[in-house]
Amino acid sequence: METLIRKFKANNINAYMVENRQEAKALALSLIPHQAKIGMGNSLTLRETGIYDSLVSGAYDVIDQFEAGISPEENLKRRKQSLLTDVYLTGTSAITGNGELVNIDGKGNRVAAMMFGPDKVIVVAGKNKIVESEEAAWQRLRQKAAPALAKRLGRSTPCAQTGVCSDCNSPQRICRCYTVIRCQMPADNDRIHVIIVAEDLGL
Ligand code: SF4
Repeated sequence: METLIRKFKANNINAYMVENRQEAKALALSLIPHQAKIGMGNSLTLRETGIYDSLVSGAYDVIDQFEAGISPEENLKRRKQSLLTDVYLTGTSAITGNGELVNIDGKGNRVAAMMFGPDKVIVVAGKNKIVESEEAAWQRLRQKAAPALAKRLGRSTPCAQTGVCSDCNSPQRICRCYTVIRCQMPADNDRIHVIIVAEDLGL
């Protein structure tokens, strides 16, 4: 784990190791500057750690595209607004042993915000997201995580039935954008903060 933290730092990405979801939540919230405008990506990990509930508790200036009852137009507007926030919180699909963030996304707003826009990006990930290489990350995502997510979301995709990816062309396909963040510019070395939790979280 110490090697992984060093690899992240060499990539100008800050990384931290915490023991459990309670510590992850405390650290993530402590990294948010006072009065920051906050955006967030759809993440089971943010929900399982309690971070999502804290963000929408009323104590933070958060753009919540998940608020029940909002229209599709309002949802889209909030996703766009989230791209220009002070802080963006999200999970990640996978972390490689080289200190890289590998992601799949449906519409692309989450991975767009991770790459550019918000001044600070706080990524929270369970140890189950760590894989050896980028190749192993794609393997994990296509053969495990994406099918499990499609099933959880109730999508009519082949993988929701079979549990493996068939690179479908379904209208309900969940994985349309594939990204790898290998490193950040030296001047951006305070931008991405990755909190790795010694628990399994998310898919
Ligand atoms: S491409 Fe289609 S089958 Fe493959 S994981 Fe994505 S939604 Fe499932």
